[in-house]
Amino acid sequence: MTKILQKKSPILRKQAKEVPVKDIKSKKIQDILKKMSAVLATQDDGVAIAAPQIGVSLRIFIVGGRLLTKKDEETRPDMVFINPVIMKVSRKKQKMEEGCLSVRWLYGQVERSEKATVRAHDEHGKPFTKGASGVLAQAFQHEMDHLNGILFIDKATDLEDLPPEKMVKDNQAAND
Ligand code: ZN
Repeated sequence: MTKILQKKSPILRKQAKEVPVKDIKSKKIQDILKKMSAVLATQDDGVAIAAPQIGVSLRIFIVGGRLLTKKDEETRPDMVFINPVIMKVSRKKQKMEEGCLSVRWLYGQVERSEKATVRAHDEHGKPFTKGASGVLAQAFQHEMDHLNGILFIDKATDLEDLPPEKMVKDNQAAND
């Protein structure tokens, strides 16, 4: 089973490398995508994951289908972002509660742009652009940070350690 690396792992601090577009359909990259989806699905509170979090220093992140699914809709598949670039962020920022699958079990407040637009390649190598606001925009910014060796604890204020047994159910934050 794929393990999620924790904050002391040096790979989480590295600048991840671009994926050559011609390699996206290769078994190697497709296997990495499968592993990322599988491990994200094991995390009840996980909304997204970046490749360095499973020990792969490549510019890939995925957003869990759960976050993309609207009410009364069937769960959507995970969305793949390869070589993502932030095209635009709103000047308006807001403090948001944040956690990370690689920084168990800390939570804190991070200032994030309310809106963000990302350009990336999908799992077939096709380029696309996706705009988002709120939690999805927050996830884009958090995952981009992962690809640049940054963890949310570098930016967060009011950090608190909240292991699951202490976590108040209706106060659960998103983790990515
Ligand atoms: Zn994270």
